[in-house]
Amino acid sequence: MAKILVTQNRLFKNVFLCKNCGARVQVNPKKILEGKVQCRRCKKKSFRAIKKDK
Ligand SMILES: [Zn+2]
Repeated sequence: MAKILVTQNRLFKNVFLCKNCGARVQVNPKKILEGKVQCRRCKKKSFRAIKKDK
């Protein structure tokens, strides 16, 4: 998991997508791991990395 996060960090500059509503957040991956990040729109705490975003 750590490796994945490092890769995300490099490629996407700490940008994650909310799994629930798709909102983007830009945060430190550490905070994602620690569960400290909430989606601004829906207040959920599940995020994923952006893969290919048009
Ligand atoms: Zn959301």
